[in-house]
Amino acid sequence: MDGRTFSRARWGCWARAALLATLAGAALYLVARLTGLTGGGSSERLRRWWLGDATQRQALITVQREQCPGAPFVLPADGFIGLLYADPSSPYSAAAPHQGIDIFSLGARGQTPVYAAYDGYITREASWRSALIQRVPDDPLQPGRTIWLYYAHMADPDGNSYIEPAFAPDTHELFVPQGTLLGYTGDYNGASLWAISVHLHFSIVADDGRGGYTNELEFANTLDPSPYLGMPLHYACQAETIACVPNPVCLP
Ligand SMILES: [Zn+2]
Repeated sequence: MDGRTFSRARWGCWARAALLATLAGAALYLVARLTGLTGGGSSERLRRWWLGDATQRQALITVQREQCPGAPFVLPADGFIGLLYADPSSPYSAAAPHQGIDIFSLGARGQTPVYAAYDGYITREASWRSALIQRVPDDPLQPGRTIWLYYAHMADPDGNSYIEPAFAPDTHELFVPQGTLLGYTGDYNGASLWAISVHLHFSIVADDGRGGYTNELEFANTLDPSPYLGMPLHYACQAETIACVPNPVCLP
C-alpha cells in the first residue's frame, strides 16, 4: 500500500465513522423527541401530528375564520394548534412554559395565510425577518389597558420573509383592521440550530406602561389567549379537538 492508497483508505474510514456518528445522533434525537412527546395530553396530539397519516393530521386541524361566539379575536391562521399556552412540552418546560400558541400548517412554508386577529397598529422592528407585533390600544376584555399581539415565524429557514410587503422592516404603527392578510407561515428560527416545523407562533403580550411592549419571550409577560379566541387554548384546559366553546377558560 503506497502513501496515497493508505491516505484514501484512512479518509474512507473517517467518512464512515462520521456517517455513523451522524446516524447515531439522528437516532438519539428522534428517540428523545418521541419519548419527550409521550407524556399524554398535548403530547399525544403532537405524536399523532408528527407520526399520523394524512387523515389523522387532517382531523387535528382547526379552521375558524370567523370570531367564536362572544370572543373578540379571530384565529390568525388555520392549522393544528399543537403547542398550547403554558404548555411545558419540549422545547419548553414547566419552569419556562410556552408563551402563546403554535398553529402548525398542513401546507408547505409560505402557503398558509396569517391574518390580523383584531384591529390594531402593526410594528415591524428593523431587524425582524419573520415577526410582527400589533398594538391593541383598548383590550376588548379589559377596557382601558393596552395589549400587543405577536405573530412569528413568517419566513423560511434562511430568513427570507413571507410577511406582506406593506409591513416592511422598520414599519411602525400602521393600522390594520381585523382579518387583514399579514403574511404566510414559515419555519424561520433565527440563529438557532433547532429546526422547527412550519407554524405561526401567536401570543398576547403585556404593555410596559410606557407605550411599548414587554419581552414576549417571558411567560410572565403574556396572557392566556383562550377568552380572546373563545377556544380552550391553555394547557390545563386542553380538549381533544380545539374549537369554539362557550366557556374556554377552565382555571379559576
Ligand atoms: Zn410558539
